[in-house]
Amino acid sequence: MGDRLRNCCLGIDALCADGVVALLARSPFYESAPVDYLDQDWFINAALKIRTALSPLDLLHRLQAVQAAAGRKPGGVRFGPRPLDLDILLYADLVMDTPVLTIPHPRMHKRRFVLQPMCDIEPLAMHPVLGRNVQSLLNQLSAEAQALRPFPCDC
Ligand code: ADP
Ligand code: MG
Repeated sequence: MGDRLRNCCLGIDALCADGVVALLARSPFYESAPVDYLDQDWFINAALKIRTALSPLDLLHRLQAVQAAAGRKPGGVRFGPRPLDLDILLYADLVMDTPVLTIPHPRMHKRRFVLQPMCDIEPLAMHPVLGRNVQSLLNQLSAEAQALRPFPCDC
């Protein structure tokens, strides 16, 4: 919602502001058609590669704090519009499934708007459950229509 690209760029800055989370790579930005709840604007997406000593749960809490600082309120339509959404896709080769956190992200392997930017920065990153890298997961999507287009950014 709002100035989508600005929300993303400020969110990345906030995430990495104090050095606890180090940004190693950022993919280009893409604009993607909504996939689950269709009556809304296109989304801006990117993938980040980070290094941190935070545990998965502490990282999730930090992501949620950055989302809240971007103006995201609790509630709202599932998969609906929001100022900022920060998800953990992979965490090294960790596999975990708890009520608050599932890693790898349970929908990452089905979504072009996730896999394409991941491939731009780390095509050989392995999905530890499916045993395939993200490039291979992206290739397998090719028959499915999920509109995605580059979104220019100079930040
Ligand atoms: P979504 O990202 O699926 O659109 P939300 O951002 O509202 O939805 O997240 C809903 C809940 O998903 C969060 O409160 C969080 O506890 C949980 N969750 C489970 N696994 C993950 C993950 N890998 N990354 C981020 N959130 C996750
Ligand atoms: Mg989320």
